[in-house]
Amino acid sequence: MGVYDPANADVASRLKNPPSTDSMHTLLGDEERTWELLTKAEVEARLGYPVTELPRGKDWGDLDVAKVKQWVCIPATIQYTIWSDVYRCEGFVTIEEPTGKVSTRGKNAGKPIVREKRVARGCGHEIVLWDAAVNKSDGETAGFFTCTNPACQHNWKKINLKRCGFVPVVSNYSYVGIQQTKRGIEPANRRTERKVSTKEISRVKEISSKPCPYWLPDHLMDKQGPQYRRNALRARNIQDTRDFYTTRNLWALALLWHHAAQCEPLRVSSQARFCVTAISLPMTRMYRYRHDGKGGILTGSLYIPSLTQEMNVGTAFWAKVPDAVAVAARRARFDAAVLLRRGSATMLNLSDSSVDYVFTDPPFGSNIYYSEASHIWESWLEAFTGRKDEAVVHRKNDGGTKRLPDYAALMQAAFHKMFRILKPGRWATIEFNNSDGAVFEAIKEAVRKAGFEIANMLLLDKQQKTFKQVKGAEGVEDVVDKDVLFNLHKPAVVRTKVRDEDHDLEQQIASAVRQHLQTLPGRIKADPANIQRRAPHHRYD
Ligand SMILES: [Zn+2]
Repeated sequence: MGVYDPANADVASRLKNPPSTDSMHTLLGDEERTWELLTKAEVEARLGYPVTELPRGKDWGDLDVAKVKQWVCIPATIQYTIWSDVYRCEGFVTIEEPTGKVSTRGKNAGKPIVREKRVARGCGHEIVLWDAAVNKSDGETAGFFTCTNPACQHNWKKINLKRCGFVPVVSNYSYVGIQQTKRGIEPANRRTERKVSTKEISRVKEISSKPCPYWLPDHLMDKQGPQYRRNALRARNIQDTRDFYTTRNLWALALLWHHAAQCEPLRVSSQARFCVTAISLPMTRMYRYRHDGKGGILTGSLYIPSLTQEMNVGTAFWAKVPDAVAVAARRARFDAAVLLRRGSATMLNLSDSSVDYVFTDPPFGSNIYYSEASHIWESWLEAFTGRKDEAVVHRKNDGGTKRLPDYAALMQAAFHKMFRILKPGRWATIEFNNSDGAVFEAIKEAVRKAGFEIANMLLLDKQQKTFKQVKGAEGVEDVVDKDVLFNLHKPAVVRTKVRDEDHDLEQQIASAVRQHLQTLPGRIKADPANIQRRAPHHRYD
C-alpha cells in the first residue's frame, strides 16, 4: 500500500523475503535487509488481536485494513510500555435488606423497615484498570467501573477492590520507515503506539520466569518508613528495591551496572555507574503515565501509581552518556581538582578558618524524608544514609519520633562546624524552604547561635531566576514554592591583645629615625652609594 507496496523497489530492497526474486536491484547496497513480508494471519498471530484494532495511520485514507493480505514488518524499538494495575472482581457491598417489619412512627410511618447488610459480590475475574476505567481520549480514570467479564458486569467503586497485579497494556515505539519526498523515497523516523501484542507479553513472561544472571539490589524496605506507610507499599507487596522495577527493566539496569563496574580505568567505571544511578529512579514503576505526556517521577516520594510508564533503559542510559563525557572533558580541560566527600556536615574534617565560601542546601525539615526516598539508588550503591542522625522532622502519624528540637540541634551542630572552618570576614549562603514559620525560626536561631550574622535574606524564584528581598521575618510565611537564600557573614576577628611598647607609635618612629641618622655616616663610608639615602625623595624611607 502506498510507499510501502512490497512491489516497490525501495521496499523490496529492504525485505528479507522480497515477493519476486527476478533481477531486483539492490538500492541499499550491502545494507542488511531487516524488513519482513508477513501474511495477515501471521500479523494477527503476533499481535493477538485483529489488525482492525491497530490505530489507523493518517495516510491510510479509506483503506479497508481487514482486506490487506500482505504486511511489511519493520523492526522497531519500544520506547516505553504503559502498565496498568489489575483488580480482582471480589469485594463487599452494602445492601438494604427488608426486615419484614413496618415503621409506625415519624415521617416513615407505614414504610417497610430495612437494615443495611454487607454482602460479598464479584465473579473473581481479573479487571485491567486500563480497559475498564480509563477514558482513552482524555486519559481520565473513573472512580467507578464495570467488571469486564460480560457475564458479570458488576459495577464497582475502585477503592472497594483489591489489586492483584499489573500488566503491560500499550507499547509506544519508534522505527525508521520511508517517505515520499521531492527527492524520492527517503528514510523517515516514526513514533507511534498500539495495544501491547501477544508476542511482547510472552517475552515479558519469559524474562520474569528466569533467574537474573546479574547482581540485584535486594535491600529490604523499612516497613515503618513514612513514605512506605503513606503510599501503602505493603498492599503492593513491595519488600525490597527489586520490587520497584518491572523484571525486564531490573535486568537491563543490572546488566548495565555489571558492565559499568568492570570498566577500566576506575574513572570511567565511576562515570558509567553515575549514569546508571542517574536513571535508576525514572526506570522504576514510580514513573507515572499521563495522557498529556507530562508523566514522570515524583521526587522525594516512593509512590507507585496505578498507570505507569516503563521507560526504555538503553535509550535513557545513552541519553545520559553525553553529559558524563562533557563533564569528563571539562575536568580534563581545566584540570580541576575536586574533592568529593560523603559524610555528616557535623563532622567536616577541615581545618579551622581554612575555607573561603560555603554554600549549603540543607534538609528542609519535614518536607522530604530524604534517606527513605533515597533508598532505591542507595541500594545500587550499597551505601545508605544513617537514619539515626538524619536531620528531619517527622510529621504526626508518620510513625517517626524526630521532632523540631532534634532537627534544630543537628542543624546547629552543622552550622557551628561551618562557622569554624570558614575564614574570618568571609561568607556563607544557605538555601532553604519550609512553609512552617517555626522551622524557619529554628534555622535562623541555629545560624545565630553558631556565630553568624544574617546579612540578608533573598527570595530565589527558580522559575523566573530572579531575587527578591524578603520583607522581614514574617515574610517567610508565603514562600512555599520559592526558596530563600540566607546570606551569612562570619565577622572578622578583632585583635584584642597588643604589646604595651607598641602603644606609643610616635616614640617608635622617632627612635627609628634617630637610629637611621646615627648609623648613616658609617654606612656611607662603607658604601658611597648610600649617599643617595640623603636625597629628598628618600625622606619617607
Ligand atoms: Zn466480575
